[in-house]
Amino acid sequence: MKHPENDEAYKGLKVNKGVADVPTVNPYLKKRTQRQNYSPAEYVEGILKGNITILSQAVTLIESSRMEHQQVAQEIIEKCLPYAGNSVRIGITGVPGAGKSTSIDAFGMHLLQQGHKLAVLAIDPSSERSKGSILGDKTRMEDLSRQKNAFIRPSPSAGSLGGVARKTRETIVLCEAAGFDSVFVETVGVGQSETAVHSMVDFFLLIQLAGTGDELQGIKRGIMEMADGIIINKADGDNIDKAKLAAAQFRNALHLFPATDSGWVPKVLTYSGYYNLGIAEIWEMIDDYVSYTRGNGYFDWKRKEQSKYWMYESINDTLRDTFYHNPVIEGMLKTAEQKVLNNEISSFMAAKQMIDAFLNNLSGKA
Ligand code: GDP
Repeated sequence: MKHPENDEAYKGLKVNKGVADVPTVNPYLKKRTQRQNYSPAEYVEGILKGNITILSQAVTLIESSRMEHQQVAQEIIEKCLPYAGNSVRIGITGVPGAGKSTSIDAFGMHLLQQGHKLAVLAIDPSSERSKGSILGDKTRMEDLSRQKNAFIRPSPSAGSLGGVARKTRETIVLCEAAGFDSVFVETVGVGQSETAVHSMVDFFLLIQLAGTGDELQGIKRGIMEMADGIIINKADGDNIDKAKLAAAQFRNALHLFPATDSGWVPKVLTYSGYYNLGIAEIWEMIDDYVSYTRGNGYFDWKRKEQSKYWMYESINDTLRDTFYHNPVIEGMLKTAEQKVLNNEISSFMAAKQMIDAFLNNLSGKA
């Protein structure tokens, strides 16, 4: 076809013949987004071989809220359970800015140098995350994230704390089956999540800072009571004396607490995550704790108690979900709420009526 623009009158303007479209913009794109559909047995085989890609994909299934994913995930977990349990699980908490990521980077590198394999998980759902502090985010643990023996997984981003905590606990099982012999579970030391972490770890480490006025202010007594070790970070430069003073104050405060069930006396140490000072001492403390509690049977007893706790948690979660998602209940809730607000019915009676309706519905009477 002759293009009129190519006429002498339009000299200087040349229109070329068009070219056919390329078949796909990026032939690799499709390949990359395609998720492998393994069978549960294939997932388990991959995990047991320590295949990180397969482990990550299985964790994604655990985190998924889709029923079919959950079914596969539960099967994988069941099959991995016999190979799990072989790690030291450490909970790490501290307020934002306490230096958790810096410290985890330092602790992690210390462990890897000793030949360990480390998984770093987090428990706080994203809604609870403070800005700029995405727990478990790889960019926060620069050294560690480049190591092949470290598996860093950010917190599942959706769901209630209970739901996220359960997923984290299930992820521990898979990581252990994949050969990780050290597991960190990180949490922001400001909310309810400490109790959840405490219920899935062997050792609970509380990171504190010195030089913030009254050292004990703002620390929930409950969190301190859970700690097996309190470590004062940023003991470097001008801050060393202040850190030592804070450590002394914490030691005094701990004396006032009742003895722990394990018989272990919680220790207080100072260190610098940033300058890598005092890290080996922290690990000596944790090793001491593990040998001590393995020796007196507390280590295994606590793990069994935790399994029991999670069984009940699981029952509670399931019951609550089934109740609130029951169509009969969904239809009744708003009206009942209004009646309670109008003083037409007591809270207890309203609850009883709905629970009766729920049970009747389950047994097919309604
Ligand atoms: P997170 O919010 O608890 O994870 O805390 P980060 O690890 O992100 O640390 C918060 C800030 O404290 C950063 O600017 C770190 O560089 C700094 N920091 C962390 N550890 C130390 C330390 O041991 N010494 C000093 N001087 N600064 C530190």
